[in-house]
Amino acid sequence: MIISGKDISTQLKDKLKERVEILKKENKRIPKLAVILVGDNQASQVYVRNKERACQYVGIQSQMINREASISEKELIDIIRQLNVDESVDGILVQLPLPKHINEDRILNVIDPLKDVDGFHPSNVAKLFLNQKALTPCTPKGMMVLLDKINYDLEGKEVVVVGRSHIVGKPVSMLCLQKNATVTIAHSHTKNLKEVCKRADVLIGAVGKAKFFNRNYIKKGAVVLDVGINRDENNKLCGDVDFDDVKDIVSYITPVPNGVGPMTITMLLSNTLDAYEQREGL
Ligand code: NDP
Repeated sequence: MIISGKDISTQLKDKLKERVEILKKENKRIPKLAVILVGDNQASQVYVRNKERACQYVGIQSQMINREASISEKELIDIIRQLNVDESVDGILVQLPLPKHINEDRILNVIDPLKDVDGFHPSNVAKLFLNQKALTPCTPKGMMVLLDKINYDLEGKEVVVVGRSHIVGKPVSMLCLQKNATVTIAHSHTKNLKEVCKRADVLIGAVGKAKFFNRNYIKKGAVVLDVGINRDENNKLCGDVDFDDVKDIVSYITPVPNGVGPMTITMLLSNTLDAYEQREGL
């Protein structure tokens, strides 16, 4: 069974749209997301444009802030500090990567944790580890929603997450642990990766290597969530999983494109609305 992140995210966006429409009817303030883009990285420009479009679709206001790559760290911090105290702004997102002369950690640490809709601020990361209510990173949150949509119960299941980045691997591992799964986090130093992956009831591939996981990595009937966004030998978009090779042995799989990807932006909108509601005391 193919899990269509595209369809599920459209349904969710329609629900978010309804929530915003109710606010409008009640003459309440409209939620706002501020997105900061530094430099002219093409992929980042596309991501930011998609985020803006998604905001428009659900009726969330968006404020796009574009700055030259030459901006200083201090100037960028000043922009974030202004957004932190701007009552009309509910979510602040700094599109990564930033130019080399800017320290990403320092920038992310300045964002008000209550407006940190990417969930990257150390305070939100700590809360995730402590099972406390927090803004959760969007891609991991989206994967949990996908599992929920197929009524998959993680309790007692073996989950193998391959990749240990701060934005995907580590947070999704924590979310699975919260659901009582037995979680293994694998990475480039893991020995016998195939055997480790073959134990998985749920395999989460987040390595960023085209078609890295073939059927030799997958247990029959496993659920496979493919986070990777890569280009194959024909320059066609593909995931970390060799979809055609594994599709007959898995029980569920997310395709690339239209799997995990669309959920990420939808979760950003969801986080923005959550941040709004928390700030408004709703
Ligand atoms: P990173 O590059 O930060 O992390 C990659 C991870 O994969 C690292 O932990 C690395 O291990 C591990 N790895 C690399 N090679 C191997 C290997 N041969 N065997 C085992 N582990 C390996 O990537 P991200 O987490 O940022 O992204 C991963 C992929 O997901 C990318 O393709 C990215 O484009 C995509 N992505 C998609 C999103 C979406 O919305 N769908 C959102 C975010 C990312 P080590 O730590 O040891 O180096």
